[in-house]
Amino acid sequence: MNEGSARVINGREIAANLYQEMKKDVERLKERHILPGLAIIRVGNDYASGIYVNNKIKRSLEIGIHAKQYHIEETVSQAALIDKIETLNNDSKVHGIIIQLPLPRHIDPFSVIHAIHPAKDVDGFHPINVGKLTLGEPCLQPCTPQGCIVMLETVIKDFAGLHAVVIGRSNIVGRPMSTMLLAKNCTVTICHSYTKNLADITRTADIIIAAAGKPKFITKDMVKKGAVVLDVGINRINLGDDNYMMCGDVDFKEVSRVASYISPVPGGVGQLTVAMLIKNVIKAASMTRSFLDKVNR
Ligand code: NAD
Repeated sequence: MNEGSARVINGREIAANLYQEMKKDVERLKERHILPGLAIIRVGNDYASGIYVNNKIKRSLEIGIHAKQYHIEETVSQAALIDKIETLNNDSKVHGIIIQLPLPRHIDPFSVIHAIHPAKDVDGFHPINVGKLTLGEPCLQPCTPQGCIVMLETVIKDFAGLHAVVIGRSNIVGRPMSTMLLAKNCTVTICHSYTKNLADITRTADIIIAAAGKPKFITKDMVKKGAVVLDVGINRINLGDDNYMMCGDVDFKEVSRVASYISPVPGGVGQLTVAMLIKNVIKAASMTRSFLDKVNR
């Protein structure tokens, strides 16, 4: 790996190339009379969720996927929400279902995620998909770590034996990320809020995945020369007077001096998260048809 001034892993560029391929995949599905369909359930009026959902819908439509938002009032009961999911599970035009998190406090996210049919779970959060990922079986994989792997593959040829340090152990980023890096034959260390001497660990890493949600938390002194650093964090910093700035978990400017490759925020991992969601919808749509083909044979 290079040493010195880091090269930027450009998420926008990588995603743009993937979208070109995905458009062709959708065309091929349409030739088989399959229009991939995505249903996004959003509960309440969380501001950030609104932006994320609109972005997912916009991108899906650009690729030729049918995408629809089901915007449900904040006071909806858990039972009514699960009924809605059941309806979408039984709708053959819907191949992928996601619930935009966070949910209001009176709703248990696990119960709601469990209600999604695993074959339509395009976020890859259902226990069946989590279990399959852990066992190394084909499944719908969580989008953000899947996107991180795609980004890493653009700059690393052989992952075997590399020390990957994942900072964060959430179900949506840290844990599946660790599983995927293990599957690539990395030696994986998972760090979290109780980890002692974090910097001593990160300094031994060939790959650092920062997903703690702490602005500019990874500093230059924590990074080995030549390491590859992916910044998953999305932090909104209040600059006063209603001015906000988005930044990652990595001190980009300083860490760029030692890393070989680094992903920026914005324009990094977030771009791939949406791309992987759309890829999962296409995959789910293709799986449905191959399943039906087998049944009808
Ligand atoms: P989370 O709050 O669920 O998990 C954060 C993790 O960081 C926890 O496991 C915690 O133990 C660990 N952590 C916290 N402080 C730490 C410390 N001082 N040292 C070591 N570990 C520490 O968050 P999440 O959902 O995993 O998201 C993490 C970040 O990634 C957030 O900023 C989130 O906005 C962002 N995110 C970005 C994308 C994307 O598409 N780019 C997708 C999902 C999440």
